[in-house]
Amino acid sequence: NFKSVNDTLGHPTGDALLCEVAARLSAACPTGFVARLGGDEFAIIVRRDGTSETMVARALIAALAEPFAVNGHRIVVGTSIGIARAPQDGEDGIALLKNADLALYRAKNDGKGSFRFFEAAMDAEAQERRSMEIDLHEALRNGELELYFQPLFGLSQNRVTAFEALLRWNHPTRGMVSPVDFIPLAEETGLILPIGEWVLHEACRAARTWPDHIRVAVNVSPVQFRSASLNSVILQALASSGLPPQQLELEVTESLFIENVEATLASLHSLRALGVRVALDDFGTGYSSLSYLRSFPFDKLKIDRSFIIDLQANNGATAMIKAITGLADALGIETTAEGVETIDQLDILRKQGCSQIQGFYFSRPIRAGAVADLIRE
Ligand code: C2E
Ligand code: CA
Ligand code: CA
Ligand code: CA
Repeated sequence: NFKSVNDTLGHPTGDALLCEVAARLSAACPTGFVARLGGDEFAIIVRRDGTSETMVARALIAALAEPFAVNGHRIVVGTSIGIARAPQDGEDGIALLKNADLALYRAKNDGKGSFRFFEAAMDAEAQERRSMEIDLHEALRNGELELYFQPLFGLSQNRVTAFEALLRWNHPTRGMVSPVDFIPLAEETGLILPIGEWVLHEACRAARTWPDHIRVAVNVSPVQFRSASLNSVILQALASSGLPPQQLELEVTESLFIENVEATLASLHSLRALGVRVALDDFGTGYSSLSYLRSFPFDKLKIDRSFIIDLQANNGATAMIKAITGLADALGIETTAEGVETIDQLDILRKQGCSQIQGFYFSRPIRAGAVADLIRE
């Protein structure tokens, strides 16, 4: 399996690329039979002649490991391989292909250049995922999803300045399912689009009942971000709730910048043009690059909890916070520290000039109905 060829199928270079890949695979595995399965996937049937499957897989990966040229284009492909063996992994082609596909799915998760053998447990897990997926479809329809709200406390204002909407799933038999467990599934299946739309409507509707100076922050998944409908979904949520756009803040993550930075910047600007605010979530994890801050004027940086956990007077984490708030100040960006659990952390963050704190120290996420009481206090 290799990525991004799907974009070029039907294009002369795309077709030439598929031929080139097929030729390289055939050369790497002379006794194998190479067939295109469709899209960017190939099936390779190899007679088991004592050569280990591991050696064959390594040879196939090596055959595509280096960039090569097709029609003058420099091509880089990432190869992932799933392996099913007859007869133990399936007695016919259909069963073998299905199980190789399950192994391929795992190999893809392991990253480029990986291969995996089918294991019986993969089948059980795939069934579990399918049943979760069916349940998630139902969840939206049956009203099993609920938004909780966690306050962001403004240190200079000395009051709540916003609430972050956090999704909860009350599953009829599994109980409360964490968003960490179902958002990835929703993203893979595309269900995040209707779910994200529901979240935006629900969050705006709730925020409409709050005082004007309190914003609502909504997490926007990269899948939603790349969908063509995001702007119209936001406009609709604002219009149907009557929430002024400046009261809505969208939280996006740095992962948006891994690919197609130009398109990402254009989308960010188009969101900003709607009048909503845009915050950079989980700042400091993964793909952080200061150049994003120069290319797009985020309204806020949310400093990831991993920095807060380590905070102690005068240690490296404190120096990091100091650097981040200093940079944010210079750029006119607010900072929110996530996951503040202790008064010691709060003291350090206050001293380093953080704009807001969010975390169990001040409040856990609460139900919509409890928001009024918390604001009144
Ligand atoms: P996140 O955006 O980083 O949200 C902050 C998470 O930290 C929340 O977890 C929150 O409950 C938790 N948290 C807040 N304060 C503390 C603290 O003091 N200590 C600790 N240990 N944890 C704290 P939650 O609600 O489980 O959400 C997890 C993630 O799921 C979120 O991370 C976000 O990425 C995603 N998520 C939640 N709701 C939505 C949604 O509506 N849409 C999308 N796309 N993603 C969502
Ligand atoms: Ca967030
Ligand atoms: Ca976060
Ligand atoms: Ca986080």
